[in-house]
Amino acid sequence: MENPFQNALKQLEKANSVLQLQPEFLMIIKNPDRILNVFLPIRMNNGEVKVFEGFRVQYNNARGPYKGGIRYHLKVDLEEVKALSFWMTIKCAVVGIPYGGSKGGIKVDPKNLAPEELERLTRAYVDKIYKEIGPRIDIPAPDVGTSATIMGWFVDEYSKLVGEWTPAVVTGKPTCLGGSQGRTEATGLGGALVLNAAVDDFGYEKDKLTVAVQGFGNVGYFVAKFLAEEGYHVAAIADSKGGVVSEKVREARKEVGDFDLDLQALINYKREKGTVEGFPGTHHVTNSEFLELPVDILIPAALENQITKDNAANIKAKIILEMANGPTTPEADEILLSHKVLVVPDVLANAGGVTVSYFEWNQNLSGEAWSKEEVHARLKKIMDQAYRDVAQEADKRHTSLRNAAFVLAVSRIAEAMAAKSGI
Ligand code: NAD
Repeated sequence: MENPFQNALKQLEKANSVLQLQPEFLMIIKNPDRILNVFLPIRMNNGEVKVFEGFRVQYNNARGPYKGGIRYHLKVDLEEVKALSFWMTIKCAVVGIPYGGSKGGIKVDPKNLAPEELERLTRAYVDKIYKEIGPRIDIPAPDVGTSATIMGWFVDEYSKLVGEWTPAVVTGKPTCLGGSQGRTEATGLGGALVLNAAVDDFGYEKDKLTVAVQGFGNVGYFVAKFLAEEGYHVAAIADSKGGVVSEKVREARKEVGDFDLDLQALINYKREKGTVEGFPGTHHVTNSEFLELPVDILIPAALENQITKDNAANIKAKIILEMANGPTTPEADEILLSHKVLVVPDVLANAGGVTVSYFEWNQNLSGEAWSKEEVHARLKKIMDQAYRDVAQEADKRHTSLRNAAFVLAVSRIAEAMAAKSGI
């Protein structure tokens, strides 16, 4: 398995070949500010005590408080959390919100824990890190394997420990606890907005484009839903057990509209069966076959390192919208570039989640509550501007959208570091 943090550093080096940062800035930005490694003993429902390992990496706070989600997954390790916290730093700078970057995680399969065990684990994690986080210090949020319910336990435990109700310490909370309207779907909606901007820019017609989405969790479901509403044809969906493809993709391509999956029926089916496998009117493909399907747009929305040097040349999609963090390795990126595949990078495409988290934090600090329409309108403004900034930088530098996003972000971070240090 590729080391995601080493991949992230390669992306940084590539941006720096354009930027030529001062060596001391480069050294700072190549390393996280702080790493917390915690061990959490939990009494399980059968009376046994299990110890879980957790992390919080605070990467860089030059532009504002650290900000980043918490992942519950068996494959969580320090290198992954470092990479994710670095990408958060870049992402917040790309969309111009006043945050640095961080990330947390616990090595656990949340599906194997009863709800009370999951609650005890979450509260134990807060107990171990609460002195190092706070609304002006470091603000967590959901990620893979975590949810609004978990953020609710998080804010409750933190508030008890500090002795006052502190909703702004975490985002992605249930709305009854200060969560924002529109946060649940924000990452998916943000991705759809960026894709629309790219599709317009490159002269495609969205109602002629077929889409495959890898991952059918929070991000995958909502991006698929918004794209289908916009007129794109979502023909294939995969989860961790494999993919389902509309039967029509196998047939000669007559009417592009034939491909569409019924996403509402599919999510209901997944809730009932625990997988998309066996959904009527579809055929099964393995996860590796899924990435090579003959669709126009491929959307990785699961985990990192999915598109590698081993499969990049076989990808048939002409656009890749990276909704997962780090789904494409740097070697694969070069192959895609040489095959003229348009890659809309993660640090732009999936920034809608942290943008609405920023709205949630603002509402918590000011005591306001914005309507869903207001949240969606503000999100559109920020995502459209971010796409324009990145596309302009790419034109100016004759480089990819990914490298342009990194160049833009790193220069913004370096500017803040310089303004603080006086160098
Ligand atoms: P989630 O836990 O809700 O869903 C993850 C989905 O991926 C599940 O459907 C799971 O079955 C599927 N999956 C796991 N391994 C797979 C594999 N090998 N092949 C196909 N599917 C697989 O997580 P999420 O919140 O939707 O996050 C997905 C990605 O988006 C992650 O990379 C995350 O870091 C990123 N992201 C999430 C947010 C957010 O707001 N939740 C914001 C920005 C980026």
